[in-house]
Amino acid sequence: MTTNELDSYYTLPFTRLPHPRYQKKGPIPAYEMIRHSVNTHRGCFGGCTFCTISAHQGKFIASRSEESVLAEVKEVTQMADFKGYISDIGGPSANMYKMEGKHLVMCQACRRPSCIFPDICTNLDTDHRGMTSLYRKVAAVPGVKKAFVSSGIRYDIIFHKTRDEKINKGNEEYLENVIVNHVSGRLKVAPEHTADKVLEIMRKPSFDIFFKLKRFFDRVNAANGLRQQLIPYFISSHPGSTNAEMAELAAETKGLDFKLEQVQDFTPTPMTLATVIYYSGYHPYTLEKISTAREANKKLTQRKFFFWYKPENRNELIGELRKMNRPDLEKKLFGKK
Ligand code: SF4
Repeated sequence: MTTNELDSYYTLPFTRLPHPRYQKKGPIPAYEMIRHSVNTHRGCFGGCTFCTISAHQGKFIASRSEESVLAEVKEVTQMADFKGYISDIGGPSANMYKMEGKHLVMCQACRRPSCIFPDICTNLDTDHRGMTSLYRKVAAVPGVKKAFVSSGIRYDIIFHKTRDEKINKGNEEYLENVIVNHVSGRLKVAPEHTADKVLEIMRKPSFDIFFKLKRFFDRVNAANGLRQQLIPYFISSHPGSTNAEMAELAAETKGLDFKLEQVQDFTPTPMTLATVIYYSGYHPYTLEKISTAREANKKLTQRKFFFWYKPENRNELIGELRKMNRPDLEKKLFGKK
């Protein structure tokens, strides 16, 4: 879809209201979240194996023009219930706005399911400076007190070092600007797991990059006198994740002083590679057998590792760690050998 085509949809006379059928049923949490948000683009080139976005919006990003985005922001400021806060300027991944290959002819022949896994394609233009400029323009629209970026941010693209120092600097400035001016107290990101084995099946980058993000986030907050939180999202029972990987995830996140809240259990979703593995038990690309928790009790145990700190989970998890003969993790999580 071209920018002109996408812009033309946003000139249609949308009411910005839920369907009347739902309006009678009282507040709709999802609507409350998006009523003052503005979408900047469609599509995602991340190619995460559990996600359908690239299947239904496409791998190639279709972006609105700045004029179209700013016109909608102005419209939102005129809404009767608008109090000055744009809840999100984003898309499936916030920081893919206007990103595409440097040489589109290469992209047309490309068969990679992800432009950023297992490494960031050298043909991908990862310059974030245009987004920083857009956010500044949005924040300057009369009536806007604050414009938040609540969509997920792919921090691996930001920290990827290109040969152009100006782009590298601009990318870190983008993240700094987001942390200082566009976060509502909590920056939510989605490392999804900590174990390389599972991350590889998910087509997600190594957890090492999360450590880098954490250091950057803490430094920017300290330098600006802010006390914001970094909130990581994780998935349990994803194909390839066993109790051992979940125990390691618990120990790793405990080491970073996190008590996790934003977690979910893997849900098989049509048209995804992860779901093929979930049902077949095999990775279709390699034919490697992949173990997956399918039974409710096994899924629940994996989930409990997120909440290792809850007293009611302690005995069961210690039992599981002993079955796995992992005194090292027992010590890290519960302080005993
Ligand atoms: S060539 Fe690179 S940037 Fe273009 S689609 Fe393929 S992986 Fe993505």
